[in-house]
Amino acid sequence: MSNPEPLLEGERCDSAWCEIRRSGIHGRGLFATRDIPKGTCIIEYIGEKLGKEESNRRGWERIDFAKKTGDAAVYIFTLNDDFDIDGNVPWNAARLINHSCAPNCEAYIDNDAIWIGALRKIKKGEELYYNYGFDLESYEDHPCLCGSKKCVGYIAGEEFWPKLKKKLAAKTKTSKARSRKS
Ligand SMILES: [Zn+2]
Repeated sequence: MSNPEPLLEGERCDSAWCEIRRSGIHGRGLFATRDIPKGTCIIEYIGEKLGKEESNRRGWERIDFAKKTGDAAVYIFTLNDDFDIDGNVPWNAARLINHSCAPNCEAYIDNDAIWIGALRKIKKGEELYYNYGFDLESYEDHPCLCGSKKCVGYIAGEEFWPKLKKKLAAKTKTSKARSRKS
């Protein structure tokens, strides 16, 4: 059964493939309203086009805010060498897609636009996820709640997982050593 969340002011979901619902992971999310074939361009990640200087300024501002509030949302995507997209606007429903370590979608750039596409066949009613692809700079501020079997515990791009796993293993050793001493 479709059970869309009421939209906030200025919100839209321009894709026929999905709608906004309450997520089991975090806040609201996007859910498939019909079976989605693998490879489908599901929804465009739209927003304000920013030059790099303004983009960096906003990025740091939000990182500071995230540290204070624990809100991991940054929403700024690299578009090309000159511009980024700030998706933190109500008309960008794709900003609500949650991160997962075992995602069913991916974000990619096509013709200077950012799209969320289906990595595999997605069944009607499934929540949509992609990997946010964060680096490890402040991974401890971004714990992952995806609950998948593959979950590495933090929001990080898959290319960073080997390094992340090493860091986490080293941490466990240190805390074990500490508890042995006490
Ligand atoms: Zn996870």
